[in-house]
Amino acid sequence: MTDPRLAGGILPETGDIDTAGFWDAAREGRLVARMCATCGAVLHLPRAYCSECGRWEGRWEELPGSGRLHSWTVVHHQVHPAYPVPYTIVLVDVDGVEGVRLLGRIDGECDLRADQPMHVWFEEVAEDVFLPQWRPSVVEG
Ligand SMILES: [Zn+2]
Repeated sequence: MTDPRLAGGILPETGDIDTAGFWDAAREGRLVARMCATCGAVLHLPRAYCSECGRWEGRWEELPGSGRLHSWTVVHHQVHPAYPVPYTIVLVDVDGVEGVRLLGRIDGECDLRADQPMHVWFEEVAEDVFLPQWRPSVVEG
C-alpha cells in the first residue's frame, strides 16, 4: 500500500467537530452514521443540526459494515499522482440505515454488477487515519 502522505495523497480532516466521530470509529474498525438523538433522523453527511426536528443533539450509531453496490465507474485518466490508474470508484448504499451512501476506491478494473453485496474494510492511509473502503462480498455456493 502506498502511503498517501509520501505520494501527496489526499487525506480527510479527522479533527472536525462534526465528523471526528466518523474517523474515530474508522480508526477502531467500525462504520458509523450520525443520527439525531431526539427523532432518530439520519444526519448524513454528518452534521450537528437536525433539519427534521431542529435539535442539536446527535449520536453515532454503528452500522453492520455491509451494503449494496449502487453505482461505479472505472477511472482511466490519472488526475493525481498518488492514485495510479486504472481504479474503480464505487458508490455503496450502506445496510442498516436508509439514505447513507459512501464512496470507495478499488485498485484496477472490477467485474461488478448493480446491487451486489459489498462489505467495508478500513485502509490505513496515514498514521492513525483510516478510510472506509469497499470490496465485493464473497458469495458462498
Ligand atoms: Zn431530529
